[in-house]
Amino acid sequence: MSERTGNVRRVVVIGGGVSGLATALRLLEGAAARRLDLRVDVLESAPDFGGNLRTLARDGWRLEWGPNGFLDNEPATLRLVERLDLNGELVRSSDAARRRFLVVGGRLREIPASPPAFLKTDLFTPRAKLRVLGELLVPRRRDLGRAADDPATDESVWEFGRRRLGRDFAELMLDPMVKGIFGGDARRLSLAAAFPRMVELERDHGSLFRALAAISKQRKRAADAGPSGTLHSFRDGMAALPAALARTLRADARAVLGAGADVTSVSRDGGTWRVRTADGATLDGDAVVHAAPAHAAAAHLRDLDPALSGLLDGIPYVPMAVIALGYARGDVAHDLDGFGMLIPTCERSRLLGALWTSSIFPGRAPDGRVLLHCMAGGPGDPHVLDDDDGALRDRAVAELRGLMGLRGEPALVQVFRHPRAIAQYEPGHLARLRRIDARLAGLPGLHLSGSSYRGVSVNACIKESETMAAAVLDRLAAAAPGAEGGTA
Ligand SMILES: Cc1cc2nc3c(=O)[nH]c(=O)nc-3n(C[C@H](O)[C@H](O)[C@H](O)COP(=O)(O)OP(=O)(O)OC[C@H]3O[C@@H](n4cnc5c(N)ncnc54)[C@H](O)[C@@H]3O)c2cc1C
Repeated sequence: MSERTGNVRRVVVIGGGVSGLATALRLLEGAAARRLDLRVDVLESAPDFGGNLRTLARDGWRLEWGPNGFLDNEPATLRLVERLDLNGELVRSSDAARRRFLVVGGRLREIPASPPAFLKTDLFTPRAKLRVLGELLVPRRRDLGRAADDPATDESVWEFGRRRLGRDFAELMLDPMVKGIFGGDARRLSLAAAFPRMVELERDHGSLFRALAAISKQRKRAADAGPSGTLHSFRDGMAALPAALARTLRADARAVLGAGADVTSVSRDGGTWRVRTADGATLDGDAVVHAAPAHAAAAHLRDLDPALSGLLDGIPYVPMAVIALGYARGDVAHDLDGFGMLIPTCERSRLLGALWTSSIFPGRAPDGRVLLHCMAGGPGDPHVLDDDDGALRDRAVAELRGLMGLRGEPALVQVFRHPRAIAQYEPGHLARLRRIDARLAGLPGLHLSGSSYRGVSVNACIKESETMAAAVLDRLAAAAPGAEGGTA
């Protein structure tokens, strides 16, 4: 399994989620363009590829294990979809999905989506509204953009919201938004790591309102305003993306996909990287892209570099349960005309929120039925997975019954358990990444990729796959005899 031949360069990719698969594809494409003779092995511990992107199709229901969709505002994702010939499979979220709801005071309340709606809503007191409008007058922080150098300046999302928009806005809007994206706690998430664009906007415009005004002016001026950021998925669900990636890679003689290959360690023998799997096999490469979560990388690198392993171990993940509930349409009184609902921490609910999945995308439930995906867990409920499926179902039904007028028993129940669902970029994350990069500088050929580091969304993972592949190829090309730009 481990011999190496001639001038062929070998890269071992660990983890067959969207990050690993997309990186493997970009590596092969980039190698061809650079006339580099490359072989890529992708090792995935699960029986199937895709990581979090899994769709369960059952009796006319289509259930997402992890992500429900992605925004169409990331060029790297659009390029990948095009490359995989998946444009015809794309489905756009319904217009109704633009309406989003909060649970406040035990009732469903629509989130105001425009300035006039914000002025009219009674979600906020007049005083809280004035405080939000006062954002224009809040001075710019002087130490913006220094979080990687000085963790003391690394503001939490909640603290940023409180400082610029007031406590009520932070509590009612930012707190649930962070639950919706990270399953996390706005008070324990770094703004600079989780939402770097916000830091740029404050730095460049001095105010979020001024930034929004400038952006919308630019959009109006530019004929090519670019994609709008609408949620999309695929007709058969999100699993279509890794399935197409795996198909394309399998059709390429330069790629080998190994499912059920549980990596146990990564070591180095001179200039060669050695990856060992649980069945005792080894695979050698000129480079390794570790695209499994940071906690897995920490375990694999413990003997090689204990300091690096410790840094990786310090990136926390939260547990989550996704509880899919299917109902007969007539058993849900609410019109479900929207995306779903998020629940602020101050409501003390046992759910983070719920998506009205069958209202967002067509074909997610059989005719006459509706599908809801409820989320529970996160840092506020670290023992969520101690509950069995029945208890999780009961918890979701109990929370939604009054809010949405549920009657009778669900026609479908499916619980998806995520012991380590989503990485939490806590304050200090960027400084940690800098220290990780410093360790990696002493380990040339070892690369870390995936949602643990520089963005948790599917879009962020795909974007990183392009930069990661380019970085790996740059290094290989520099050392490849006879290759373009290489040393002979
Ligand atoms: C419940 C939930 C909802 C989400 N919703 C959204 C959403 O709506 N939109 C969005 O953009 N993002 C969403 N995300 C985030 C998104 O799904 C992930 O960030 C993204 O899929 C991560 O991809 P990845 O390839 O980096 O990691 P993963 O998908 O975790 O893939 C890593 C792979 O490495 C493998 N692996 C682990 N250990 C080993 C080992 N020892 N040897 C070999 N292989 C190993 C794993 O089996 C896995 O297949 C959601 C995540 C969750 C959990």
